Amino acid sequence: MGSGVPTCGFLVDPDGQRGLELAAWTVVESWGAALFGDPCHACGFDWSLTPEQAIAVIADAPEVFERATAGVDGDARQGGWSVAEYTSHVADNLRQWSERVQAARVAGQTTVAGYDPDQLAIARNYAAIPLSVALWSLHHSATAWVDVLSGAVAQEVVLWHATRGRQRAQDVARNNAHDAMHHLWDIQRITGR
Ligand SMILES: [Zn+2]
Repeated sequence: MGSGVPTCGFLVDPDGQRGLELAAWTVVESWGAALFGDPCHACGFDWSLTPEQAIAVIADAPEVFERATAGVDGDARQGGWSVAEYTSHVADNLRQWSERVQAARVAGQTTVAGYDPDQLAIARNYAAIPLSVALWSLHHSATAWVDVLSGAVAQEVVLWHATRGRQRAQDVARNNAHDAMHHLWDIQRITGR
C-alpha cells in the first residue's frame, strides 16, 4: 500500500471537521461482548481472542462449515434460517465487511452503518441458493476477508459506525469471527451434531 493510505480513520481527514462531527454521534447500539456476553451466552465464543486468532477462525471457516454440513440437508431448519441460509449469511457478512474495511484502506471512507441481514437474505433469495453453492461463496468471501482484514489490522484501520461508534479493524475481525462461529453453532443445533 502507498504512503497515502489512511491508517487511522477520521484523524487523516484534511479539514479536521469530520472527527468532531463523528464524535458527536450518539452511540446507541450494543454489539460484540456487550451484546452477546463474554463468553457468548449462546455459542461460547471467547471475545479475548487476539486479532490473529480471529483471522485464523475465518481462514478455517470454509473447511469447518464443510465438515459441519457434510451430508446434511441444506434446507433443514428449526424455525429460523436453514443450514444453507445461515451459510449464505456468514458468506455475505464477510463480504460486506471486507468491502467496508477495504473502503477505508483504498478510498479513505471510514464511516459505516448497519445493514439488515434479513433484507439482504430476501434480496439475494437465500432460499434458492443450494448449500454447496453457499459453501463455495463462503470460501471466496473468507479468502478475500482474510486478505483485507490482515492488512487492515496491521495498518490499524479504524472505522466509525453510525450506531456502534469507533470500530478498530481488530474489533471488526472479532465481531465477524463471532458471527461465523455463532451461526456454526446455529447449524450444529439444527443438525444435532
Ligand atoms: Zn455467539
